[in-house]
Amino acid sequence: QTVAQQSNNVSTSSTHSQLKQGLLFVLSAPSGAGKDTVINTLKEQGMDFHVVSSITTRAPRPGESEGNPYHFVDVETFERMVANNELLEHALVHDNWYGQPMQQIRENLPLGRDVLLKIDVQGGATVRQKVPGAIFIFLVPGSIEELTSRLINRDTETDSERQLRLKNAQYELAQQDYYDYVVENRQGHLAEAVEKVRSIIIAEHCRLHPRYVSL
Ligand code: 5GP
Repeated sequence: QTVAQQSNNVSTSSTHSQLKQGLLFVLSAPSGAGKDTVINTLKEQGMDFHVVSSITTRAPRPGESEGNPYHFVDVETFERMVANNELLEHALVHDNWYGQPMQQIRENLPLGRDVLLKIDVQGGATVRQKVPGAIFIFLVPGSIEELTSRLINRDTETDSERQLRLKNAQYELAQQDYYDYVVENRQGHLAEAVEKVRSIIIAEHCRLHPRYVSL
């Protein structure tokens, strides 16, 4: 090889080319702020990341089934998984237990696949403590009125479940201060919110020292 050819072989971004681990993202938002819509749109646009499928003690709703969108288990099984340290975090959310299985994270990150934890603010606080290198994104609705009308329109909760979610939303919104990024998802401006989350993911990969985590 000539010197010119050899220099062509030298990578222009050593940090990036040598370490191809995935990044760990946390996405939190009050119920009804549009997390699923944003995530589904990013996937439709071709972004490749693994969304961890939670374990929950909540009963499946009409149209839901095992693995879609959660793994539905009884309280006993959930408690056993907690005792065995199988969950990165777990929390009681709107009267039901939810948790993030460690295995899905451990399987994907080393393959260079980003992992996204779609969890509430309690889960966000636990992950911040255990894995400070994760990247924390908070999605906020344009207003409480928007949140209320989205919850009414999606019609997946009973009246009392909806009231509980709206009551919790006040507390959840106050927790945005602990996140790295806050993205507003205003009614009628979904594309803007999606573009912002997409830009955050891209920018995090362009860091001189990407925030790789070990678990
Ligand atoms: P839903 O039952 O309506 O799908 O979800 C209710 C709330 O639980 C949402 O705010 C969602 O982000 C949160 N959640 C879902 N899975 C988990 C989890 O594994 N851990 C935590 N902490 N929250 C979760």
